[in-house]
Amino acid sequence: MICVSLARGRHRYLLTELRHLGQEKVGLVELRLDCIQRKVQVKRLLADRPCPVIATCRRKQDGGHWEHSEEERLTVLRTAIAEGVDYVDLEDDIAKSIPRFGKTQRIISFHDFKRTPNDLRGLHSYLADFDADIVKIATFANHPNDNLRMLELVQSSDIPTVGLCMGEIGTPSRVLAGRFGAAFTFAPFNPEKILAPGQIPWNQLCDMYQYDAITPSTKVYGVVADPVGHSLSPVVHNAACAAAGIDAVYLPFLVPKGHLRDFLKKADHWPLSGLSVTIPHKENVLEFVSSQGDLVEEIGAANTISFDSETRESTAFNTDVSAAISAIQDALEAQDAGFGGRLGLKTALILGAGGAARAIAFGLKKQGVEVTVSSRTTSRAAALAELVNGKVVDWSARQRLPYDCIVNATPIGMHPKVNETPFEANHLRPYMVVFDTVYNPENTLLVKESREVGCRVVTGVEMFVRQAAEQFKIWHGDAPPEGVMRSALKRATSSVRIIE
Ligand code: NAP
Repeated sequence: MICVSLARGRHRYLLTELRHLGQEKVGLVELRLDCIQRKVQVKRLLADRPCPVIATCRRKQDGGHWEHSEEERLTVLRTAIAEGVDYVDLEDDIAKSIPRFGKTQRIISFHDFKRTPNDLRGLHSYLADFDADIVKIATFANHPNDNLRMLELVQSSDIPTVGLCMGEIGTPSRVLAGRFGAAFTFAPFNPEKILAPGQIPWNQLCDMYQYDAITPSTKVYGVVADPVGHSLSPVVHNAACAAAGIDAVYLPFLVPKGHLRDFLKKADHWPLSGLSVTIPHKENVLEFVSSQGDLVEEIGAANTISFDSETRESTAFNTDVSAAISAIQDALEAQDAGFGGRLGLKTALILGAGGAARAIAFGLKKQGVEVTVSSRTTSRAAALAELVNGKVVDWSARQRLPYDCIVNATPIGMHPKVNETPFEANHLRPYMVVFDTVYNPENTLLVKESREVGCRVVTGVEMFVRQAAEQFKIWHGDAPPEGVMRSALKRATSSVRIIE
């Protein structure tokens, strides 16, 4: 169950939202009384409530907004109990001074905004001893495995427990709470009123993650990256699984470079069925897998891992290469420029020398295209050029010579710097194929100017959808719903632009 948190400064807004959630058949609502700016009218808020309610009045030291005295805070909580509120949230240090009364159930809570303590079990039994009906522990995750320690505590608890990790690393603990038997998870109603770091808004938890449909048999997938917040893979894969009726959830795992080994060692505890791999792990992930699929060894980079459900062996794949090449191929064929399945390109200039550039350089070389690499850091460009027997050109000279194909594999032109291009319009020629890997926005300045000049254009959306579709095939064995994936991606990129 999701407990939706309401945090408004005025009683009437709080009541309007509470009524709305009642109509939406929400099972539990938390009223954050500390956010109310005037004297809290407890009786007014609790009268005619449409669903069960938790009364919470959080001090600043516990991440709340309460500005008045501690005595007044305790009075608010006691009044809520006297008015018969369904649940009251009591921090451990005040739990003894507010005894059980009537039918109100006691949530004994603990917050640590810096770390996830080592002895979670000891902490849990300490909190349970305050006559708790429910124990709530919210701690800050500094390591991806803090999520697992918290979820395993929840799973083994003998009284109802809510255990959540805060911060971006902690997101998986919020989504998987129910799968591990938590009494409920928390989500703010209003995306602009995030109450604790790493919270996921209610509508996202319902619509994108389908929280209420996650059960112990739901398969767990995700993307490992640092940073991971910008990744649109959760949007695309969750939409695809929902459309295909597959019982799976796909999460963002923020895994710093030094934590990848530990994270993968515990893959069986989640248990993970598959992972997308991106910055900065595409190369070093190969150290930790049991085997490598076609091309991966040659390229030295993977973007996909699949875990065998029986042997638990992990296999690394690279779906970037075929995604990039098939995107170019199909675009050329659609524009009547294919050459019997070959690309028909002789030379290509790749801008950038990172993970995307590497996959595309290998793919183009395999197609017999002569590759030239240009990157801001010349030594990186030279290293990549050497790997594909290609040439290197200085970044300042990248526009001097003509090529059949220009590939942007840098973030130049990506939101929010949408007025930038890595290749000026006056150097574009109508015979060129221009492939911009940037997908947010799809119509970058480079894409727009290339179309104006009459170039044949391939966008980053095509590559992104194809690499995700191939991952879907590897993990689920089914034909991927590419149309659903494409529209989910386009919707997400346009809404990012609207919000920001
Ligand atoms: P990466 O490994 O970090 O490499 C980025 C490359 O871009 C590096 O060569 C970097 O040069 C260069 N670069 C970064 N900022 C630059 C700037 N302001 N001016 C000039 N060069 C700059 O990243 P990646 O994984 O290859 O991703 C690169 C881009 O490809 C992403 O931004 C994304 O838009 C796109 N991408 C698309 C897909 C898709 O499916 N469509 C998939 C992956 C990536 P230095 O070495 O000097 O830092």
